Amino acid sequence: SSPFLGQSVIPLVNKLQDIFSQLGSASTIDLPQVAVVGSQSSGKSSVLEALVGRDFLPRGQDICTRRPLVLQLVQTVRKPDDRSEPIEWGEFLHFPGRRFSDFSTIRKEIQLETDRELGNNKGISEKQLRLKIFSPHVLNITMVDLPGITKVPVGDQPSDIEARVRTMILSYIKHETCIILAVSPANADLANSDALQMARIADPDGSRTIGVITKLDIMDRGTDARNFLLGNVVPLRLGYVGVVNRSQEDIAANKSIREALVYEENFFRSRPVYHSLSERCGIPQLAKKLNLILVQHIRAILPDLKARISTQMITLQKELASYGELTESKSGQGALLLNIITKYSYGFQSIVDGKYEEWSTT
Ligand code: GDP
Ligand code: MG
Repeated sequence: SSPFLGQSVIPLVNKLQDIFSQLGSASTIDLPQVAVVGSQSSGKSSVLEALVGRDFLPRGQDICTRRPLVLQLVQTVRKPDDRSEPIEWGEFLHFPGRRFSDFSTIRKEIQLETDRELGNNKGISEKQLRLKIFSPHVLNITMVDLPGITKVPVGDQPSDIEARVRTMILSYIKHETCIILAVSPANADLANSDALQMARIADPDGSRTIGVITKLDIMDRGTDARNFLLGNVVPLRLGYVGVVNRSQEDIAANKSIREALVYEENFFRSRPVYHSLSERCGIPQLAKKLNLILVQHIRAILPDLKARISTQMITLQKELASYGELTESKSGQGALLLNIITKYSYGFQSIVDGKYEEWSTT
């Protein structure tokens, strides 16, 4: 299984899209957005990047994310017999038509465009930067990287920087369809977490907030994050996942995402305190948790999808009936319709029964 976000959900969504396209309608599965919140340098951009599995976001100790980055992942479809290397690229809204196929140039362009818009003296803005990533390996999902909460204005920042950033963050995470990744570093007290505080305002019952604890590798000696992860410090309905992302040193040394994942795995394996918490440790577990939430979301919207499909089927059936005597091609359409009915009723039933994995592999 793949460690990255969405991979295990892709077959399910693809199947549903197939059904829709056979019925002649475009994609209609709206997946929720995922947004990261937390204080500055808590590791938000690092977490997003690790989930997507590509290196392309500016990260660092200073303020890096100064505008909301709306990252839209777009799944490109390949022909089944296409054996060539899949092509992946990024495209910016402010730079239409230019394909960035080298991901490090995407990071540079994010920085350049941020500076063009805001100057290079730490100013922030709610004006979005919009980036699409095209790849055969992604789910069609939107992720939002947000500036972090800071308390003391620096550089060109206004005196009310904290309030402004909070308002900006809220405007994203208040939506019922937004999944909140509340990012808090393990080397600070969780009870003081800006991320959890903001998440609680937007999602008081915690039904769409996942707690992410970063920097487990740089906790004070003799301490560990067990109580955070167990929810003993701040309880959270959907729970916590602890992660180890790349340090500033790793970034300087160009450590790849793959290497970072191996490092993270070894980190948890070599620390017995985390052995009994393996489901709450590591980026792959975070991806898994998110995927599960996406599947639950799809399940929740199924009745509506089903109703839409039924309406379309009735139209199709009427159309078929109006043909009167069936010609060759019309009977072919009849067979197609039967095929669709069988496929969708089986498909939906197995998702409803929670056997989507089984179904998605058939
Ligand atoms: P953001 O401001 O919340 O988006 O945080 P970034 O992702 O830009 O990370 C801020 C700094 O913390 C960078 O220098 C990262 O290398 C570092 N960092 C992030 N996560 C971790 C982690 O899990 N362990 C360590 N050692 N450093 C991390
Ligand atoms: Mg950031």
